[in-house]
Amino acid sequence: MKKRSNLSRLLAVAGGHKYLTYASWVLSAISALIALVPFYYIWKVMQEVLTFAPDFSHAQNLTRNGWMAVLFAVIAVLVYIGALMCSHKGAFRIATNLRLQTMERIVKLPLGFAEQFGSGRLRKIVNESSAATETYLAHQLPDRANAIATPCGLLVLLLVFDWRLGLLSLVPVLLGFLIMMTMTGKKMQEKMKEYQNALDDMSNEAVEYVRGIPVVKTFGQTIFSFKKFKDSIDRYKVWVIAYTKQLRAPMMFYTAAINGVFAALIAGALIFTGGGVTKDFLLDLMFYIIITPIISVTLTRIMFQSENAMIVDDALHRIDSVLNLNPLAEVAQPEHPNGASVQLNHVHFSYDGKNEVIKDISLSIPAGQTVAFVGPSGGGKTTLANLICRFFDPQGGQVKIGGVNVKNIAKEELMNTVSFVFQNSRLIKASILENVRMGKPDATREEIMAALHNAQCDDILEKLPRGADTVIGTKGVYLSGGEQQRIAIARVMLKNAPIVILDEATAFAEPDNESRVQAAFSKLSQGKTVIMIAHRLSTVAGVDQIYVIEDGQITESGKSRELLEKGGVFSRMWQDYQTSVQWKVAKE
Ligand code: ADP
Ligand code: MG
Repeated sequence: MKKRSNLSRLLAVAGGHKYLTYASWVLSAISALIALVPFYYIWKVMQEVLTFAPDFSHAQNLTRNGWMAVLFAVIAVLVYIGALMCSHKGAFRIATNLRLQTMERIVKLPLGFAEQFGSGRLRKIVNESSAATETYLAHQLPDRANAIATPCGLLVLLLVFDWRLGLLSLVPVLLGFLIMMTMTGKKMQEKMKEYQNALDDMSNEAVEYVRGIPVVKTFGQTIFSFKKFKDSIDRYKVWVIAYTKQLRAPMMFYTAAINGVFAALIAGALIFTGGGVTKDFLLDLMFYIIITPIISVTLTRIMFQSENAMIVDDALHRIDSVLNLNPLAEVAQPEHPNGASVQLNHVHFSYDGKNEVIKDISLSIPAGQTVAFVGPSGGGKTTLANLICRFFDPQGGQVKIGGVNVKNIAKEELMNTVSFVFQNSRLIKASILENVRMGKPDATREEIMAALHNAQCDDILEKLPRGADTVIGTKGVYLSGGEQQRIAIARVMLKNAPIVILDEATAFAEPDNESRVQAAFSKLSQGKTVIMIAHRLSTVAGVDQIYVIEDGQITESGKSRELLEKGGVFSRMWQDYQTSVQWKVAKE
């Protein structure tokens, strides 16, 4: 039932190419039937050999029958090639449509979702899951039509030849097959799912592990994080063993059933003939002994195909896990924000629908002000910034820009209103020029160069072989974290959005770089509404308003002087910070 619905789902996205897929099944089945014709000629050859005439009078027949067998075998192959040509074309179209569907949905999803979902998983869905359905349609389904047609054709053939021997050879094979299928069926599907999940986990952990290597090295947590990766490998191993175990018993049983066929055939031969075996009967018996294994091989093929069907089931399930995600509601009647102020009214947010990470936060930032979010790690600063850019929608309350709920601002306009300098601004593998141009696709070279200059990037360009045209990320051209962030700032400068959010990079090794990033950032923030997520308190001294965010709530707010006088959380953080700076200076 389920497999059927998978197939009809796949065919539904095929459009007109559906008929190609159908054609491939028909051709493949026909090819299987044609492939049986040579058996008839082989039988005739065998008959002639057995009725061997000393004068070779039938030698001509012998060769002719041999050639006929070859001819039909070739025709069968040609028809099968035709089937594959149809199936490939259909499969490619279906997989392409699936990829497009998932990509279209991903584009419509909240921007923050990729991080939430895990980029490894996402890549797997867009690439591997669609590829799995493609192979399934291109090879496995025609193969299945072929595998089903073969025993059906043979069944007719065997029963017509000699129904008694036919029954003797077929009953054990079919019975064995049916029992095996019932034995494996559901349990196997469950095991298969677990196995796939464990495989997934393992590749995700591997990605995380590799990604985390710099952090791991810095903090000496090698053993801890490697353990997670290793645990995932262990879990995978457990499921692989469970899965193959599940297969072992039925396979053994089935092999036994096939051997039973041979015993039954020989016993049958003796019973039917009452011990006196005729030459004709011997001939039939030989023929059956040759043909029965073919049935069992095709049946085994069908069984392994059901494994493939499970893989596709799983792939479609993954694809649906993306297609079923709720996109951010489309803006029906877009409104234009009136100025660059930011307001949050009783905002509640949770990533998983259970734990609130933002608990009833309200704040108001007038246009043109600079504010800072400070507080312990995990308090919710980044999440808050994400909500302002509408990477996610809050479950309660409103986020407003220029007095308009962000839900009512057209996506394009929202993007042009808010810039986000991420903690790790990744640059893409392209020239610096192209990287900056992303901020404003129609910018001229002069505009880009001006932005780079304002973002204090002159020294970076000077040391690069081809200046702003140097492609970064290749041929040993790598930039430090601080340098990358300055280029990211140039990009945001070029975009020139009235609201800027900066998730400050935690720490840069070179103090020289740090002061340049500071300078670049203060240029960028001139005349703009700025929200800084500050990790170093030295940068918040001059801001208009500081919000201390702890455990999803604002626990203190005010100017730095007010907060210091108040002697609350902020002043304690400040003292800690001072000591750590002094300690650092003393150490150097
Ligand atoms: P901060 O920026 O102040 O360090 P975050 O906003 O990153 O804090 O995190 C706030 C809380 O939300 C933390 O408990 C964190 O574990 C959780 N969190 C952050 N991002 C995600 C996410 N993508 N999915 C689930 N939980 C998250
Ligand atoms: Mg953060």
